[in-house]
Amino acid sequence: SLSDRLANTFRNLKGKGRLTEADIDATAREIRRALLDADVAVPVVRQFIAQIKERALGAEVSQALNPGQQVVKIVNEELVEILGGETRRIQHAKTGTTVLMLVGLQGAGKTTLAGKLAHQLKSDGHTPLLVACDLQRPNAVKQLQVGGERAGVPVFAPHPGVSSEFEVPTGDPVQVALDGIAEANSKYHDVVIIDTAGRLGVDQELMQQAKDIRAAVNPNEVLFVIDAMIGQDAVATAQAFNEGVGFTGVVLTKLDGDARGGAALSVRHVTGKPIMFASTGEGLKDFEVFHPDRMASRILDMGDVMSLIEQAEKNWDRSEAEKMAKKFADQEDFTLDDFMSQMQQLKKMGSMKKMLMMMPGAQSMRQQLEQFDESSIDRVEAIIKSMTPHERVAPKIINGSRRARIAKGSGVSVSEVNALLERFGQAQKMMKKMASGGGMPGMPGMGP
Ligand code: GDP
Ligand code: MG
Repeated sequence: SLSDRLANTFRNLKGKGRLTEADIDATAREIRRALLDADVAVPVVRQFIAQIKERALGAEVSQALNPGQQVVKIVNEELVEILGGETRRIQHAKTGTTVLMLVGLQGAGKTTLAGKLAHQLKSDGHTPLLVACDLQRPNAVKQLQVGGERAGVPVFAPHPGVSSEFEVPTGDPVQVALDGIAEANSKYHDVVIIDTAGRLGVDQELMQQAKDIRAAVNPNEVLFVIDAMIGQDAVATAQAFNEGVGFTGVVLTKLDGDARGGAALSVRHVTGKPIMFASTGEGLKDFEVFHPDRMASRILDMGDVMSLIEQAEKNWDRSEAEKMAKKFADQEDFTLDDFMSQMQQLKKMGSMKKMLMMMPGAQSMRQQLEQFDESSIDRVEAIIKSMTPHERVAPKIINGSRRARIAKGSGVSVSEVNALLERFGQAQKMMKKMASGGGMPGMPGMGP
């Protein structure tokens, strides 16, 4: 995953005030690879990366994140923004019947979606009517009728009596669409969903047909349905439909498969049209409102890293960090009190082991992390609390008899007190090294 690949990159980066071009380049290379792996179209990747670089360059380094994490955060924010920010809902007609029209290649999932939309609208209190305008494919009308039946929504079709399983219905799709809307008006259906024909590739005749239907019925929404697995072809297909028929929104289907969803970014980037729904299976309910944030982490393939970043930012106590930074600036010594407060900071971040495992760079520390015992933090606290204030700021004075007293006071063995003091000594050295750097302190005493 991207987080694994970023681990190496992050290890060499140090917090230093502002993000530098080198920081960004290192991370951008991995992001580019992740986007290509997700099947985002090549020219879209190029533009997107350029945009990210521009925004990241000179961005201030946050206290809670290292530069690599911060670039990832910017990328994620930018992805969510491009994918649509807030989710857009269907715009219903102010008065009269709302007309929705579905367009897209054959096999994209239009007819399946028609049933799902009808079902959803019905459970929202609408009275939808499905209209079968795919008169091209054998069985297309029947398929819609089956879907309508499952959704409990009536279907308007040119030959209501079609019984032979493979009969190809005949008729003019434009006329069927108009008749369907007339039927809706007379029977008080407030929403009409028009299913149309598609072909395996972009086809002028079919494009013209969809265009004619659109011109005749003037839909409130034209939804372009696209298969998430289409990969690099997404750009050309979306452009062809955008110019040929035009559409107001996009539905991404087959997101239950392993497609990482790069098509979403490509389509959005080249057409500027919002992605409104996601289809996630063949069942009626495998359908949801599109969530740009979920899609962003799917494209980047790093949900865990994002939640880690969020959590780190939420829990990192800024004032505590600033106090620490000031201490270093003032050349003050790192004391056992500071050590304890660092431990408490880390504990606040939730289950430490799980958190640390998610951290970029954790792979190289896996063994140490696996041995890490969370309850040891509580014992460290107990030990430090058994020390006098003077001992905490001047641990050098803690001799044998003091160690014995502290061990007794905190209910641990003397060797555990010794081990803590040794780890503290290491942490003290490390903190001195970090003094100029800022950023998030590592795990005291746990460095490689
Ligand atoms: P149309 O030609 O655009 O009308 O596409 P269909 O609705 O007939 O769907 C083509 C095939 O894809 C059918 O076998 C559907 O069951 C299947 N399909 C549609 N949507 C999804 C989806 O979201 N996930 C999966 N796994 N299959 C889907
Ligand atoms: Mg169909």
